Amino acid sequence: MVYNKNPMKDKLSGKILDDGLCLCDVCGKKSKLGGFLNPISPDPQVACYDCMIRMSAEEKGISIAAAEKQRNDALRVSRLFTDCKMKEYLAAAQKSDFSDIDEANKILQYVTTVWNTFDKKEKDKMARKKDDALIPLFENVKMSWGHLTEKPPQKRNDICACGSGRKYKACCLICQEQEKAEIEKWKRFDAWVIRKGMILLTESKDLDIASLIKFYFGKKREAEAKRYGITEQDMEELNEWLMNDYFAPDEPTPYALGRLLAQDTLSIDERKLVEARIEAPKSVYLVTFIKKGTGALLRNIFDQTEVFVHDTMMSQSTQPGYAVFLRVFPAGPYYLISGGHMSYPPIYLDEKLKEIEKAYKKSGQKDGVNPFLRRNGHVFGRLF
Ligand SMILES: [Zn+2]
Ligand SMILES: [Zn+2]
Repeated sequence: MVYNKNPMKDKLSGKILDDGLCLCDVCGKKSKLGGFLNPISPDPQVACYDCMIRMSAEEKGISIAAAEKQRNDALRVSRLFTDCKMKEYLAAAQKSDFSDIDEANKILQYVTTVWNTFDKKEKDKMARKKDDALIPLFENVKMSWGHLTEKPPQKRNDICACGSGRKYKACCLICQEQEKAEIEKWKRFDAWVIRKGMILLTESKDLDIASLIKFYFGKKREAEAKRYGITEQDMEELNEWLMNDYFAPDEPTPYALGRLLAQDTLSIDERKLVEARIEAPKSVYLVTFIKKGTGALLRNIFDQTEVFVHDTMMSQSTQPGYAVFLRVFPAGPYYLISGGHMSYPPIYLDEKLKEIEKAYKKSGQKDGVNPFLRRNGHVFGRLF
């Protein structure tokens, strides 16, 4: 199995020599590469193996030998995870090896992104376990290979790759086009539901919309809005909050969605959408894979669940490894995202997650970060 990828190759030219050795930015020696000191900066610094171990020992206040053992264990578990998942992919794709380096890199990138959704504490815990104990654990990490085991594009008049014997245009192409049309249909239903909800809100006698808007924006964002004007993104998020996340005191269901359900103006499909929206919290996701022009595979940072969202805009405006804050809800057999989304490089993620987790602990709520974000997500503004 050959896979090797260094996404920072361009940034590191001149620091890593052709024979694979680094020019350590710490001791200045030419030596075996230990790691990167600031991997996501535009100018990442390299450190040799010895310097890396020494710094780690100093930082943790442990011996060189202990630091070396920790590092080896950390490498061992991440390699084991990668190997496990690469093998799992090959089994899913019914192959004995990768067709080419691009395929291997594509899968490796997905596996690495998933690995990076485990936090440091979790990884440390894993590093203390033996391989035998880790393998069943890794096998339980759910992956979505379906979107990656894609066949090469087919022409309309080719014999279909599914093996039916019919031409592609008379076989699987029809299914794909039907699927696209189906998704569009669900999006139209959903737009209509939102419209009904917004009418309900603006016509409601017991709601003071003006003060709700004031509450939503809070002092800081209100001041920003006065200064810079309210952006379209702000408006979209405000509507989404009013529709999905405003709860009247002592009511278990969001105000607008609950009242929509109680009315008799919904079709069966619209009712299903309202119910799906009631269930769906907001959360922070990591983009793990993009299917260009179709959607993206997302992994929930807080509960590790994975979902493929059907959203063209999404797959064009973000990239694997980026973080998004949004709501995902089932619409028929598909998943859609609610409202707009913005996508951020991982450099902002840690700090924001800490901020959220601190607020969650302080809230005293116990039912998980996702439901907490449903009621309090707006406090974090656009989050990033
Ligand atoms: Zn060095
Ligand atoms: Zn077919």
